[in-house]
Amino acid sequence: MDTSNEGASSFGSAHSSGSSAVQRVCFCERPTIVKTANTEKNFGRRFVSCENWKINQDCGFLEWLDPKMCSFDKKVVHHLHQRHEYLEAQVKRYETLVEVEVGKVRAEHEKKNCAAKGRNGE
Ligand SMILES: [Zn+2]
Repeated sequence: MDTSNEGASSFGSAHSSGSSAVQRVCFCERPTIVKTANTEKNFGRRFVSCENWKINQDCGFLEWLDPKMCSFDKKVVHHLHQRHEYLEAQVKRYETLVEVEVGKVRAEHEKKNCAAKGRNGE
């Protein structure tokens, strides 16, 4: 009983070591960072990289976190990305429209307030 449980737990921990991959060190012995690829071949696929890439001095350390994608996966991710960009653009468009409308309403409101004040003054 006990031994089978132990076996199961060690099996489980071996598979849940995803987060420890983040704490790996690269060739220059610095803590690595997780990045998401944006190349056509590996779009949206995460990998562990040298943190010196920011200053263009990475040691070339690269380890994929996500499994390789098949062509269907790539298609789906690409489609979702395009859909996301489209929706973001739409949101921005509507935000601008709302701002314009709010501006109009405010201007209208101020006009009325001024008129009311004018009448009250008389
Ligand atoms: Zn490095």
